[in-house]
Amino acid sequence: MLDNPKKALVSVRDVKMHFPIHTGVLRRKTGAVKAVDGITFDIMEGETLGLVGESGCGKSTAGRAVLRLYDITSGEITMDGIEIGSTPQSQLREMRPMMQMVFQDPQASLNPRMTVEAIIREPLDEHTTLTAQEKREKVAELMDAVGLNRAFAKRYPQAFSGGQRQRIGIARALALNPKFIVCDEPIAALDVSIQAQVVNLLEDLQEKFGLTYLFISHDLSMVRHIATRVAVMYLGKIVELAERETLFAEPLHPYAKALLSAVPEPDPALARKTERIILQGDVPSPSNPPKGCNFCTRCPEVMDICREVEPEYREVKPRQFAACHLYNET
Ligand code: SF4
Repeated sequence: MLDNPKKALVSVRDVKMHFPIHTGVLRRKTGAVKAVDGITFDIMEGETLGLVGESGCGKSTAGRAVLRLYDITSGEITMDGIEIGSTPQSQLREMRPMMQMVFQDPQASLNPRMTVEAIIREPLDEHTTLTAQEKREKVAELMDAVGLNRAFAKRYPQAFSGGQRQRIGIARALALNPKFIVCDEPIAALDVSIQAQVVNLLEDLQEKFGLTYLFISHDLSMVRHIATRVAVMYLGKIVELAERETLFAEPLHPYAKALLSAVPEPDPALARKTERIILQGDVPSPSNPPKGCNFCTRCPEVMDICREVEPEYREVKPRQFAACHLYNET
């Protein structure tokens, strides 16, 4: 069990999300893309777990799998004490209000033919019995909460800037008073100048409504700012998970070391000590990951055992988990 003094709102155990590959005239299953290949972590109530890794590592699929937007291949997901990993989609409806998602591209995720009011109201129409007047009031409150002028409720998303559209998406995600929100690259499509505003808004809302976040991003500097703990993903697996300060100061896993070495160090004294690690080679295909450790084809510290035996993901130091043979118990 992953110990932590706080209560876990979300528990994920050995979750796999494999997408079958069909080939030939008969469309026989000939393999699988192992987008998520056995991930385990807890997200504590009120915390922000950052999930980082290069594009294609499976982090967005992991976020969607945790919300059960997919039927997962295997594993367990517990949400607020209820196991939802194997619950049929038809029975997940009751759980949907408590778990929501903020998408990367507000442009693509908002229906251009609906007014802002209708977009934010839609979850209320689907999941509540509020009267029309109560819904109008709730929508206005939500617009206030995310810093949108309620006088613009009848406008269409196209009339808003990228940052404002993301605020609409956040208001919609908040409509049903969720406990848990997966933020999937919520600032990646926004101008740099407004990214910080949206992140600050997410932080304010977290405090105000007691939200728990899974914050998926390839922007390590932003994750360093917002996350309580950070998980690093590589080729469908979590290779390291630790408190933010610990991970950025002393990463254990060679991939985490390389990834974090690219982040500009704000402290000039530390900046001189950190050397950029450039990885050789390409990321292998998730449909054909290497035997043993999935990082063995690129790891600067690879050993013979790494090419044969998959390293166990375990607590190497207090509250610091890693999957690497360098830290095998002797
Ligand atoms: Fe590198 Fe081996 Fe550790 Fe994998 S197990 S990260 S190949 S040292």
